[in-house]
Amino acid sequence: MEDDFDVCVVGAGYGGATVAALLTHSGRRVALLEKTPLAGGKTQTIDRKGYRFEMFGAVGIPAHESRFHELVDVLGVADRVTFTVPEGDAASMRYKAASGEWRTSYNPLRQTGAPEEMASLRRIFGVNDDDLAVMARMYAAVLTLTDEELEILDDVGMLDWMRPFGLHKALESQICMNLNTLFVVPVNRLAASEAILTMRQQVIGGAGRYHIGGYGRVAEVCADYVAEHGGIYRTRSRVKRIVVEDGRAVGVETEEGVLRARAIISNAGIQPTVLRLAGREHFSSDYIKRIESLEPSWAIAGFRYVLDARIFDAALIPVFSDQSWLDDDRFAGMEAGDWPDVPLIAIDVPTEFDPSLSPEPGHQIANCQVFSSADPDSPMSEEAIRRAEITINELWPELEEHILRKEPYGAKQISGLSRDSVLPGCGGEAVGIAQVVGQVGRSKPDARTPLAGLYIVGCDAGGRGAGTHQAVDSGFHVASMVDADLS
Ligand SMILES: Cc1cc2nc3c(=O)[nH]c(=O)nc-3n(C[C@H](O)[C@H](O)[C@H](O)COP(=O)(O)OP(=O)(O)OC[C@H]3O[C@@H](n4cnc5c(N)ncnc54)[C@H](O)[C@@H]3O)c2cc1C
Repeated sequence: MEDDFDVCVVGAGYGGATVAALLTHSGRRVALLEKTPLAGGKTQTIDRKGYRFEMFGAVGIPAHESRFHELVDVLGVADRVTFTVPEGDAASMRYKAASGEWRTSYNPLRQTGAPEEMASLRRIFGVNDDDLAVMARMYAAVLTLTDEELEILDDVGMLDWMRPFGLHKALESQICMNLNTLFVVPVNRLAASEAILTMRQQVIGGAGRYHIGGYGRVAEVCADYVAEHGGIYRTRSRVKRIVVEDGRAVGVETEEGVLRARAIISNAGIQPTVLRLAGREHFSSDYIKRIESLEPSWAIAGFRYVLDARIFDAALIPVFSDQSWLDDDRFAGMEAGDWPDVPLIAIDVPTEFDPSLSPEPGHQIANCQVFSSADPDSPMSEEAIRRAEITINELWPELEEHILRKEPYGAKQISGLSRDSVLPGCGGEAVGIAQVVGQVGRSKPDARTPLAGLYIVGCDAGGRGAGTHQAVDSGFHVASMVDADLS
């Protein structure tokens, strides 16, 4: 039998790797178990024939002054990870105007409101100074709301909060497509509190941090930190069951046997953890009903490309029209086969952040992403990438001749690298539990579950923010919570 641990963490995604490293740093003896060969969860970076790939596109928001910076500072590992944010016009937009004309702009990743940025908005969206003044008023509100005012907005949908400002349709399209990309949920039910907090972080810290060597690098360093400081880190180690004795979570079972710990923290998703790993018999029927009713974010489907030339001319490229951003009605339309003229596409180009990801100078690695259902069995991912490809080929007709490798992915692959599908329609979510009204703030599931000794970490509980930032934020909060409970 293994020695006892203070804490066992199930899963080394950004939530799990963060909490495991922070608790190790606090002097706890930690076991970190990961079912795949690598840390990073949905942001794993893998090696294929010398090319370093993001399994799914990933960049950090905010780019500067993020929870990631705090994490590497606290752990004293900043020298093992290099953060990079490209200078100059590293972001581009491809916007299809109502006239059918494609318009392109180039911008820095951290916008400052400089006159040339305003000129670029006037040109690409056909807006005037009055329209920009309306947008400035909205951003002034974003930056000045108090914490109390923000809390009230947990219960307000973002579209309802935005509409009274009277934004020009094209500017509304840009903001809504940005929010879809950040949260992967319908803008009408996206909690305004979450949206505003991240928009504020974007203004202050910019969007688009990358980690040299791959976005998953910080998770790898955190996992290694556990092993280097008296804990254990095991890959290819799937937790099959959480062991419960006398109404308390006391250990986990893997192929290698049972490992006992005083606290179990799961990064495997709240639904798989409660309903399958621990088992519904350990919870009240009300709690089970609540867990079953939680709505996942959508999935993101797409292509990973390796290209033998520089086809994409920026690090981040959203492609959209006024029909592309998604609320409930538009997404339901897509599910029923009624697609917009341009599906909302987010292109990340990791080699524009870190050219060393490619062994061949000038080769490009890119991720083209489009929204689809979280249901691993839905045919929507395939249809989404088929439609995205039509638009991509229209914009970059030379692309086809330069493809060295092209790998499609969708909800099934996301589920394989992160959480099991334990309920119909769930498992392939790109983020986690959707950050919609009724599931954020006071209404978000508590990271401390009703089963003594069992905690949740990652995007389902304990954190705020967009994507990986939320997972790391959760790691910080859950580490403090568990440390206090164990003291
Ligand atoms: C295509 C795509 C693009 C995205 N783009 C961005 C982006 O640009 N920026 C951004 O910030 N976010 C992005 N996200 C979202 C981001 O990846 C997630 O929100 C975040 O990584 C989730 O972290 P997590 O800790 O909650 O869990 P996960 O990443 O899901 O990690 C869970 C971990 O637990 C492990 N696990 C599960 N079950 C078990 C078990 N039984 N035993 C052992 N281990 C187990 C999994 O293997 C995994 O490693 C994107 C997501 C996708 C899919």
